[in-house]
Formats: sequence, structure tokens, C-alpha cells
Amino acid sequence: MRIARTLEEYAPHVGEKVIAEIYEHARKLYGTKIVHINSTYQGGGVAEMLLSLVPLMNYVGLEAEWRIISGRTEFFNVTKRIHNCLQGESGELTPEEQELHIRTNETFSEYTKIEHDAVIVHDPQPAPLIRFYKKRQPWIWRCHIDLSNPNTQVWSYLKQFILRYDRLIFSHEKYQPKNFPVKNYIIRPAIDPLIPKNQPLSDQEIEKLFKEFEIPTDKPIIAQVSRFDKWKDPEGVIDIFKQVKKEIDCRLILIGSMASDDPEGWQIYENVLKKAGSLIENREIILITIQHDLLVNAIQRKANVIIQKSLREGFGLTVTETLWKGRPVVASNVGGIPLQVKDGVNGFLLDPYDYTGFSEKIIYLLRHPETATRLGKAGKEIVREHFLITRLLKDYLKLLNDVFY
Ligand code: UDP
Repeated sequence: MRIARTLEEYAPHVGEKVIAEIYEHARKLYGTKIVHINSTYQGGGVAEMLLSLVPLMNYVGLEAEWRIISGRTEFFNVTKRIHNCLQGESGELTPEEQELHIRTNETFSEYTKIEHDAVIVHDPQPAPLIRFYKKRQPWIWRCHIDLSNPNTQVWSYLKQFILRYDRLIFSHEKYQPKNFPVKNYIIRPAIDPLIPKNQPLSDQEIEKLFKEFEIPTDKPIIAQVSRFDKWKDPEGVIDIFKQVKKEIDCRLILIGSMASDDPEGWQIYENVLKKAGSLIENREIILITIQHDLLVNAIQRKANVIIQKSLREGFGLTVTETLWKGRPVVASNVGGIPLQVKDGVNGFLLDPYDYTGFSEKIIYLLRHPETATRLGKAGKEIVREHFLITRLLKDYLKLLNDVFY
């Protein structure tokens, strides 16, 4: 469980002025009832943000709630396909799959009362809900995924629901659908600097966590912190690691807890296991699937290089978290990553298929720790200015003011 924070506790990170601005934007919204609806409490960036955002919304005077759409495995198989197709995968949703998506939403609506002043629906899983309520309040669809090149059949299926919303939110200008009649906003995701995943850790605390999880620290460490998901390309990370290892003896950690709304995780994990082969037995590659915020924190701080080899990435909170810890990233130039990483300033950006480029940059950082430190410092300031939870809270309050007044 996380400890609910006061807004004032963020002042040392963001300054008093930001805190005062948030209170100013909250004034007209006191007592406003908001409900967020998504599909998991744990795993992935959406849950990560809501865990901090919902308590903070309450703290500043709104009455914010959070509901999770429930469904069977088959439902999450379909919604994962929708997610994949919206990020550009080919294929079609069959009428049966569409029916399952819609009916699960209908069933949820039968036992979920919505009497709030505004409804914020996250991502495609609960998007059809809007069809099953008599709409008495603004409905906002918050899309967290990379919608720049969606599969047209799946997007036109989903569009019938999205058209009913009053406002849309995207993470990147590039994701806004063309010629779409619903007013939309750009809101960048953000991290919470006060949670265990992002709090400062001493060297002793880091050592202790590495010991507890039996991760040796005798060699340089490369790590990727990401769900086992094809878009995060963990298999590609292994190929790059093998190239780097020819030059520098090092170790790879892949840490990816399993999200309850992502049924593909274990399949991808199996593929990674196969690909890593004997490197797993020698603990040259370490795979971790449990959810452990402090361990993620320790790995992001201890790794000599953090890699984010995504093929698509809505935003990439893992990148934000790494930069906040003053560590450089070597990352794909896709989706929301270039909003955070400026090539050569706070990390390196590469085409996701440029394996040689990835391994060269990793080798470079392993050989030049002083450059790694310099890039990392720049990254922390970018996050402080643009990607902390207080800015996210302020953006939501501004949007709600815009909707109501
Ligand atoms: N995460 C975690 N444990 C893991 C792997 C990931 O807590 O083993 C967290 C990670 O720290 C980040 C979130 O899950 O906060 C992933 O968000 P991101 O935007 O990077 O990707 P998403 O999973 O939403 O596609």
C-alpha cells in the first residue's frame, strides 16, 4: 500500500509556486465527484499513475474514485488484441470478439452505478461503457497508447464509442486522430517522486536488495524494466546484450511484473527464456517477474545502463523513472520516448532495429561512466520540470475547469 501524501510534501521537488497553482485550479472543483475507470490496479503505467493521482485529487478537494472493469481471460485476450492493433498490428477483430468486448462492458454497467459529475475512462478496455449509461455528465476518454498508426478496422470499430465522448486526452500530438469531431487535449504522463519506486535509496539499501534477490554485482549491469510484452522487445534486448558481451563482460537484468489485464505476458516470457538459453543458468541474464517497487528502484539506480528497446511506446514511464534517478538511457526513438530523451543530452536515441547502434552506445557508456553521469544529471532536471505528478494533477484540474466552466 502507498501512503497518501499531502500536496505540500511535493514542494521540495517542484517549488511552492506549483503547489499554489494547483490549489488555485482546484478551487472551483471542490466536492466535484469524479470516477476513473481502467482495467487493472497493478502493472503498467496507467495503474501506476492512478495510484498517486486519485489520492491527490481527493487531497485537493475533489471526490475522486477509481473503478476497475472486471472480465474473464477471454475478455482480456480480446482487449490485448485491440491494444496491439491500435498500435499498428495487422489483423481483424471478429464479430464474436467485438461482441465479447461490448457485452463485458454491458455486464459491468449493470452492477456499477455512475452518478458522478464527470467520468474518465482509460484506454480501450472500458471504452464501450459509455453506450450503456444514460449520459448525465461529461465523459472523457484518456488514451495512453500510441495511436499514430492504428489498424484501420479496429480503430473504426472503437471509433463508434469514442465519438460519444465529450473530450479526449492523448499523450502526444502525433496520436490525435485526424479530422475527429471531439475536442482533445494533450497531457503527458508523469511519475510520483515520493513513492517507494522513486524515493532516494542509499548504497547500503541497494546492496541489500541485490543480495536479497541474489543478483551479483561483480560485473557492469544493463537492465530493461518493462512488462514482458512484444512492443517492449525483450528478445531484441537479448540480441543486443549478446553483442555488447562480446566486447565487455556484463550482466543483463530484465524485470517485468505481470499485469492482470495482459494475458500475453507469460507467453513472451517463455520466448525470452528460450532465447536466453544457457545464459540464464549462468545468471548472466536474470529474469524477474515479481512486482517489487523498491527492487525496480534499486535496479534503475544500480544499472550502468538502462535500455528501453520498445518498438512502440505510448510514453514510457520507465524512461521517466530512470531519468529521475539521474541515470542515462539508451532507448528507441519511438512514441513518447523522444519527448523525454534528447539524443546526446540525457541519453541516446536509436532506431529500434539498429542493433549495432544500440550496442555501440551501451559499450560507449560502459566505457565512459563520466559521460553517463553527465547525461543522467540533465535527465533529472527535464523530469523535474515536465514529468512529475504535480504537473499531471494540474493538467487534469485545468481540463476539468475547462469542461465545467
Ligand atoms: N513496472 C514495475 N515493475 C516491473 C516492470 C514495470 O513496477 O517489473 C512499472 C514501471 O516501473 C512503470 C510501469 O510499470 O511505472 C510501466 O509503465 P510504462 O509507461 O513504461 O509502460 P506500460 O507498461 O504502461 O506500457
